[in-house]
Amino acid sequence: MPDYNNYNSLKSECPQGHPYDEENTYTTPAGSRVCRTCQRERSRKWYHKDVTVSRERAKRWYHENLDENRERAKQYQRDQRSAEKKAVTDVTPPETTE
Ligand SMILES: [Zn+2]
Repeated sequence: MPDYNNYNSLKSECPQGHPYDEENTYTTPAGSRVCRTCQRERSRKWYHKDVTVSRERAKRWYHENLDENRERAKQYQRDQRSAEKKAVTDVTPPETTE
């Protein structure tokens, strides 16, 4: 009967053919080996997928709530303008104590 644990540790390549060398191999606390190249590629794919999905979702949401969003943008600009105006009128000459 083959020793599977031992067999696994003797493999010199990951399933994708990347070498299990010192640089490319991460050993989990449980003792199994992870190919860094594969892991990197996986996380990159996930990252890009997520970005695209959330961008699409944001676009859709914006169009679904177009009126509301336009109103919100207008309100935001109004707020900005009144904040600027307020900042200008808030400048009062320093009080003299005499
Ligand atoms: Zn790999």
